[in-house]
Amino acid sequence: MLRIDRRELRAGPVETDATVSADDPLLGGLALRLEGGLAVSGRLQQAGHGDYLWRGRLAGTARAECRRCLAEVPVAIAADVDVLFSADPDAGDDPSVYPIAEAATHVDVGEAVREELALAVPPYVLCRDDCAGLCPRCGADLNAGPCGCTPAEPN
Ligand SMILES: [Zn+2]
Ligand SMILES: [Zn+2]
Repeated sequence: MLRIDRRELRAGPVETDATVSADDPLLGGLALRLEGGLAVSGRLQQAGHGDYLWRGRLAGTARAECRRCLAEVPVAIAADVDVLFSADPDAGDDPSVYPIAEAATHVDVGEAVREELALAVPPYVLCRDDCAGLCPRCGADLNAGPCGCTPAEPN
């Protein structure tokens, strides 16, 4: 469950365990593809007036493109999430604070899952540190060996 009833939270912390599938609308529009599901675990609890602290963990595997050779590479995701949901309108400037409506009946940690997942995938992925990349002339994958193009003259 990623959507927790606030009445339940009044009674004490609530475990947030769920598996978000790769085609879940929650992840729609993100520039990454999940391989299998994303395991979400954690615990949501009240933290003062109208605030809720969520300590969670995201685990899974995404597929990203190597920035040099464009090969698909699996990227392990293992992110600890520590965010606050707050009904305080002044808290909205802090990126680790997610606003909730004063009148909301539930706290939905899904939005935090989405954003923290996007942050958990490094923006610059390489298939390996010494990836040779693609030939800028013919586009051949230089990891498979030289392509036969004349090397560019050094300027
Ligand atoms: Zn590569
Ligand atoms: Zn070439």
